[in-house]
Amino acid sequence: MAILDRLPTRDRLQRMGIITTGDCVLCNDALETRSHLFFECPTASNLWEIILQHNGLKKSISSWEDMIVWACNSWKGKSLISTILKLAWCAKIYVLWEERNRRIFQGRSRSTDDLFICIKEFVGIKLRGKKINMFDRVNTFLCNSWAIPEETFA
Ligand SMILES: [Zn+2]
Repeated sequence: MAILDRLPTRDRLQRMGIITTGDCVLCNDALETRSHLFFECPTASNLWEIILQHNGLKKSISSWEDMIVWACNSWKGKSLISTILKLAWCAKIYVLWEERNRRIFQGRSRSTDDLFICIKEFVGIKLRGKKINMFDRVNTFLCNSWAIPEETFA
């Protein structure tokens, strides 16, 4: 839904006359478009930076479109790092949408650190039972960094 830009983001609801202000509820500083909410918003970009750090990566990407191109070109194969990047990206989209709804409908909010904990848990759960080659030093680093439980080590 996020990739196809079909989510009822606030810019769209405002155009439809359903709401009068379409500001992003995470930063209150920009119109909530798909690209803003999931990529440009400081909360989204901070989360993504933390995710990259946990993968030992540092990469500056300036737009949602460039991000999708990078993901499609680079996250190939079954390496642990590709798998984690894909899982973490999906989890990031999910928690941002959930957090946005929580703020709008429940008036409650969580910190970026709290959101990252949710992402880390999701990645850990998804990798449970996966056979990981621990002779690969990148994998050892990733398992430490993401606190992937030891029972998944093979
Ligand atoms: Zn924002």
